[in-house]
Amino acid sequence: MVIGAGPAGLTAAYELVKHQQTVRVLEQSPTTVGGISQTAQYKGFRFDIGGHRFFSKSQEVEDLWTEILSEKMMLRGRLSRIFYNGKFFAYPIKPLDTFQKLGVVYTTLCVASYCKAKVFPRQNVRSFEDWVINNFGERLYETFFKTYTEKVWGMDCRTISADWAAQRIKGLSMTSLIRNTLFPPKNQDRGAVIKTLIDQFRYPVHGPGQMWETVAEIVTQRGGEVLMGRQVVGLQWEPGQLQAVTTTGPGGDETHRGEHFVTTMPIRTLIQSLSPSAPPAVVQAATNLGYRDFITVALIVQKKELFPDNWIYIHDAQVKVGRIQNFKNWSEFMVPDPELSCLGLEYFCFEGDGLWTMSDADLIQLGTTEVARLGLVEADQVIDGTVVRVPKAYPVYDDNYRTNVQTVRDFVAEMLPNLHLAGRNGMHRYNNQDHAMMTGLLTARNIIAGYPRFDPWCVNNDAEYLEAGEAGAEGGGRLVPTRTKTP
Ligand SMILES: Cc1cc2nc3c(=O)[nH]c(=O)nc-3n(C[C@H](O)[C@H](O)[C@H](O)COP(=O)(O)OP(=O)(O)OC[C@H]3O[C@@H](n4cnc5c(N)ncnc54)[C@H](O)[C@@H]3O)c2cc1C
Repeated sequence: MVIGAGPAGLTAAYELVKHQQTVRVLEQSPTTVGGISQTAQYKGFRFDIGGHRFFSKSQEVEDLWTEILSEKMMLRGRLSRIFYNGKFFAYPIKPLDTFQKLGVVYTTLCVASYCKAKVFPRQNVRSFEDWVINNFGERLYETFFKTYTEKVWGMDCRTISADWAAQRIKGLSMTSLIRNTLFPPKNQDRGAVIKTLIDQFRYPVHGPGQMWETVAEIVTQRGGEVLMGRQVVGLQWEPGQLQAVTTTGPGGDETHRGEHFVTTMPIRTLIQSLSPSAPPAVVQAATNLGYRDFITVALIVQKKELFPDNWIYIHDAQVKVGRIQNFKNWSEFMVPDPELSCLGLEYFCFEGDGLWTMSDADLIQLGTTEVARLGLVEADQVIDGTVVRVPKAYPVYDDNYRTNVQTVRDFVAEMLPNLHLAGRNGMHRYNNQDHAMMTGLLTARNIIAGYPRFDPWCVNNDAEYLEAGEAGAEGGGRLVPTRTKTP
């Protein structure tokens, strides 16, 4: 039994049916597979939750994508720039381009504030703000670092720990920027490439959902079941095994029994759905896990060409939108009419906050007003729109998340050895599809073998399997900001 038809759950199911195992996937969505990697559809327009690049340092994952979609996987060039004050800036930042666009006066102010930071650096560097100002000056901090970081993480840069800046912006300084502009680094191999900066990636002709729609079809053709509209709301257990799960949905309530259960549903909901309840300490640990949520507002625009980027980062503080995807530039097949375009406006939020609770009509109005204010599109060129809300899009790494996840893992390992945690929210790992897939694949292999050959917790954020104890195993995934420590 597999809970969730996202990349992790469907990869596990794919591997299981490949080895003639019986498998049933339970997916809460009545219509759509792929989870966060789905391709949403609206009146013939197709759009991602965010934009999903297919790139992995794991050759096995790359091969799997080829095996599933072969020539339907296109190789795409990446263009993504920063949009600030009505201008597009190269990303990664290039000093010449930046200073040309900022103009002589602003550039002089940036240089002056950089010199000031070098002569009078902030002492006792504690926050992201302290660190960036000391390294780039206040002006560049305000222009390129502050607003976007705060939009994405919902945290004030003065409360984000300087450690994160030091790790995240590692190796980047004014000197290195200027050196890289004058002498661009050559011959970077795949392993050395920084994942967020890759300039080529693969992409299915009809978006990431095509991958997962195809896997669901293959699983079904090979005798597996993918049951839609089944939300797992209860898990019945006794010490030593998970016996069954109950689902609710348009077709009514059902009970599903199985020998092994792979879960990719969020850990918090999983533990809260156990019957009888898990011990209070385990329930508390799971309840304490946090998430950041996400809204895509898709706008249909009556214009053939808007801008050449796949996506742009919006650094202006006057608007709430964080990133804008131009889906036609990912694949022309995402838009049914070549005379039209489709933008995906990304809003980072918390479930229940002002953005989350806005009506769809108000969100579409907000998006329209914001793209017009930015000067990207005329308001009357927006002819239609739709909204997709994604709860728990990002597992939050707070100070206690590791301990909380460990408490849950220990309980599951001891009491429920036939329940296997996999995937992004299933393991509370902030990672890409390739990581989610690899954990699903290894879990399936353990089930097929009949004993735990692999430890899915030892898949690093590059989707590589490392033996327990190796540097990087249990790495916890991508770096995320943490709060400043109390002095
Ligand atoms: C904005 C954004 C951009 C991204 N960009 C990229 C990118 O460029 N490249 C990349 O590789 N990755 C990207 N990712 C990450 C990628 O989306 C995830 O890593 C991947 O989807 C995780 O797969 P998963 O199967 O673990 O989880 P999910 O995709 O979350 O799938 C879990 C599935 O379980 C179902 N489910 C949950 N609870 C229940 C329940 N109780 N009962 C039944 N079903 C349930 C859900 O409906 C869902 O279908 C991005 C993510 C975001 C948020």
